[in-house]
Amino acid sequence: MSTKLFTFKGGVHPPTNKTLTQNVPIENAVDPKVVVIPLSQHIGAPCDPLVAVGDTVKVGQKIGESKAFMSVPVHSSVSGTVKKIEQHYVPNGSKVNCIVIESDGNFEVYESVQPKGNIEDLTKEEILSIIKEGGMAGMGGATFPTHIKLSPPKDKPIDVLLVNGAECEPYLTADHRIMLEKPELVLLGVKAIMKALGVDKCFIGIEKNKPDAIEIIQKAVEGQEGIEVAPLEIKYPQGDEKRIINAITGRIVPSGGLPMEVGCVVENVGTVATIGNIFKTGMPLIQRVVTVSGSAVQNPKNLYVRIGTSYKDVIEQCGGYKEEPGKLISGGPMMGFAQFTDEVSVIKGTSGILAFSKKEADLGEPSNCIMCGRCLEACPVHLQPYKISRYSIQKNFDAADEFHAADCIECGGCSYICPSKRPLKETISVAKKEILARRRKVK
Ligand code: SF4
Ligand code: SF4
Repeated sequence: MSTKLFTFKGGVHPPTNKTLTQNVPIENAVDPKVVVIPLSQHIGAPCDPLVAVGDTVKVGQKIGESKAFMSVPVHSSVSGTVKKIEQHYVPNGSKVNCIVIESDGNFEVYESVQPKGNIEDLTKEEILSIIKEGGMAGMGGATFPTHIKLSPPKDKPIDVLLVNGAECEPYLTADHRIMLEKPELVLLGVKAIMKALGVDKCFIGIEKNKPDAIEIIQKAVEGQEGIEVAPLEIKYPQGDEKRIINAITGRIVPSGGLPMEVGCVVENVGTVATIGNIFKTGMPLIQRVVTVSGSAVQNPKNLYVRIGTSYKDVIEQCGGYKEEPGKLISGGPMMGFAQFTDEVSVIKGTSGILAFSKKEADLGEPSNCIMCGRCLEACPVHLQPYKISRYSIQKNFDAADEFHAADCIECGGCSYICPSKRPLKETISVAKKEILARRRKVK
């Protein structure tokens, strides 16, 4: 393991607030009586239902899939009866078709759920098919279908796999606990992905505020040729894929480009461990670790939750709210989505559920920009946030485009650092959406 600490230029240092849950072992969530499983939990085409109202289903049974290339199937997380197929809100604020299943409480496993055998005996194509059929999409929040990320075009050869164990978002500790408690699954997942990509080099990047995880993962990979732990400086957004590539390999992904353009694939460590679990047990992605934390949560925890369980049920298992929350967030406080209700389901990309008191959620009113330049220093993409934000407010999207608004990774570092509390990320995000929509129209 290198003793050097890897990092990138720019970024911010928000309080990490991880002590609430970093030493709390993963606990199995209470089994839900009903699950609402969205047919769209990933970037790409939504699934069509494979079941009808009245059908009985088992744990791990495929209940939705799409013929589109850019999609992954969804599976039942309980055994029971399909009660409804109807639209519900999901954590990103959209309304999508969902399969509502009443659990019979037996958790009977679907017959085809079987261990997948040794990675060494499987072909690259078989590994990719198992990952796709396992319903894998990036679990760090991006939810990009994993099998597509692992199938780059021939003219973009990959030589390095980077596993993102930075978990730089404040409060979240799910990935930290996975590395401590499931290192063997991380290693198994790494081996499967390396074989699928045909690479012989892998770095597992972990921020240095997790020395126990660095030690355990280091032990797990000892003697494994080509797999190395890369300790990272504590800085936000260290876990962003372009930042982690630059920090560890020194390579720079071009503006508007993808990691494969510099020979890299980045996978979140929770995704990697879940892939390991699919090969070990055959069980597709039907459960995930979720950090439940924040000042308005009675007993913050890391819970292993069945997909489709409501946020409300999850929070109740943590002793409920201490007080009526001022803000409920899905994911981390920097890049997560604010929720208007806790009646939404845990999905594949739900890394955290955070509830904050009214006092903590009140950021105060924004005031005028004082041209201090702090947002420029903080931006990891080296944008000019105050300018782009101003153009966005003026609806001058051409000017925002000229200043590369589409390159914003929506990390929120500029909003966090701004002494005038300007909603920089939010306004830049509006411009980015508009610019990307225009580009799609032109195509
Ligand atoms: S402009 Fe975008 S990328 Fe830069 S700090 Fe703000 S949110 Fe992050
Ligand atoms: S940090 Fe805020 S006040 Fe300072 S230049 Fe940026 S927008 Fe203006």
